[in-house]
Amino acid sequence: MSDFRAWVEIDLDALTHNLAAIRRRAGPGVRVMLVVKADAYGLGAVTIARHAARCGVSALGVGTSREALELQGAGIRLPVLVLGTVIENELADCLSHGIHIGLHSADRRASLQALAMAMGTVANVHLNVDTGMGRLGVLPSRAVGLLEEIHASRNLALAGIMTHVAAPHGASDEATFEQALAFDELLAAARARGILPGSVHVANSCAIFSGVRGPRAWPYDMVRPGIAAYGTLPGHLARAAELRPVVTLASQVVFLKDVPAGTPVGYDATWRAPRPTRIATLSVGYADGVPWSLSGSGEVLLRGRRAPIVGRVSMDYTTVDIGRVPGVCVGDTAILIGRDGQDELRLADVARRAGTIPHELLCSFGKRVERVYTGGDEILPAAPGARTRSLPPVTSGFPE
Ligand SMILES: *Cc1c(COP(=O)(O)O)cnc(C)c1O
Repeated sequence: MSDFRAWVEIDLDALTHNLAAIRRRAGPGVRVMLVVKADAYGLGAVTIARHAARCGVSALGVGTSREALELQGAGIRLPVLVLGTVIENELADCLSHGIHIGLHSADRRASLQALAMAMGTVANVHLNVDTGMGRLGVLPSRAVGLLEEIHASRNLALAGIMTHVAAPHGASDEATFEQALAFDELLAAARARGILPGSVHVANSCAIFSGVRGPRAWPYDMVRPGIAAYGTLPGHLARAAELRPVVTLASQVVFLKDVPAGTPVGYDATWRAPRPTRIATLSVGYADGVPWSLSGSGEVLLRGRRAPIVGRVSMDYTTVDIGRVPGVCVGDTAILIGRDGQDELRLADVARRAGTIPHELLCSFGKRVERVYTGGDEILPAAPGARTRSLPPVTSGFPE
């Protein structure tokens, strides 16, 4: 019996494996910025970042300045980039902690330069270029001018140039190719003006593995994976990538009940027992990350067998029909995502069935779900004189 009503098991050895697969795919000399925004997709940013640092990851990407400060407060020394943008009154905190900031407008260049000068410091910025995502980023036509302005700003250091691929799933190869072309033109124009771009990074997980630009996915010096490190990619890419699942979502059976035919189960009585059967109640619900949309359509693994979710998923509980799964007891572990014996409910499949994407499913794991880490020992520093598996050394991050 588990100590927890619901828990996420996070396999750090699988994370090690996936980071190695990403490095192989990205090619020699290409560094990895692991994206750990939204608490590392719900898996615990501090623990994930610490482990990633030991695996040779060079930098971390986050979504907000608070996330960056949390990592630094926990003693993580890797460079941290706020990938998107920072609201104006958070800039000072970022600067005083040396956090790298995405920059995408002339206004922000001016306010950052003024602030950094007033603080007597230098701000590390990554110019974000909008080559087709249409979200953040300066348009390519404005980018060279802005680069020159950054270059001329005494209190700004150009630490990187980035863009974001809008359709990296291979769904729109032509559009992706156009984005790469626009980006390459900009890089050439910058170099022609003697502007060194710092770290050049474009590819998220799908772009790393989709091979739109051939086997050497993106000829730049850094990649920004998130979801692939956490064990999944869209189906057609996943097969070749040989990633290992990192995440298991589990709960336990807290109640069993034999019901006669016709018994309604759950809110709105959307399901009635078609025959006499046994219902197991699991102590996990949509507040914990079981999508409500799996009401009446999802499955769980119990004793290595599949059992259907019946009735509505509620906030704290999920009910399953175990009429065809013999021997279930109170305290048994139910797997909602992950492997049990020979069978597996894969993250990507559960997400698809729930009508969402793996990213959202991971981010929806609630606060009260215990995070349990396994593995991670194989790259601990070895006893004196011994050698562990040879992993690349921890590098210092962005080039100075
Ligand atoms: C979230 C994010 C990534 C990582 O995306 P994945 O699909 O998880 O690999 C990379 N770059 C930027 C700018 C992002 O916002």
